[in-house]
Amino acid sequence: MQQVLVLNASYEPLNVCSVRRAHVLVWKGKAEVVEELDRPLRAASSTFSWPHVIRLVTYVRVPRAVQRRISRRALFARDGWRCVYCGTSSGRLTLDHVVPRSRGGDSVWENVVTSCAPCNMRKGNRLPHEIEMPLRKPPRAPAPVLFIHLATPKIPNRWQPYLTGLGDSASSAATA
Ligand SMILES: [Zn+2]
Repeated sequence: MQQVLVLNASYEPLNVCSVRRAHVLVWKGKAEVVEELDRPLRAASSTFSWPHVIRLVTYVRVPRAVQRRISRRALFARDGWRCVYCGTSSGRLTLDHVVPRSRGGDSVWENVVTSCAPCNMRKGNRLPHEIEMPLRKPPRAPAPVLFIHLATPKIPNRWQPYLTGLGDSASSAATA
């Protein structure tokens, strides 16, 4: 299953989609093909190029309200598959609410972190500063690039130039 990388009008990576979806976007004039594969895409009456990277014609703002759902896989990937408190990457990882739910903490990207099971047990119902388990940096919503990597285990070479170096700026743009 070939996937297509979708860029915002600003060239920031947004997500991935199917070839069929990319083709519809291009056909409707909503996107342009930035990279194509040397492989014709045959339809009933004509032949089209095979989109590999497309760019939306109009800039799409990604509102915080529709930020991606939190999954353990995306959370652990955001935190580098390490406990944010002690740094271990071995053992069972868990999802920890920085401000515990029992104390009004929400299930939002800015309030969840990856924690090893022992640290999660130790922290219990307390806040990080109450138990001297400081966070090195405040958690935030991951950049779209993370979800592109999760959706595409093997990133095609020709996508790389569009994905590298954009992680941080894309993330700050999304949380601005
Ligand atoms: Zn830990």
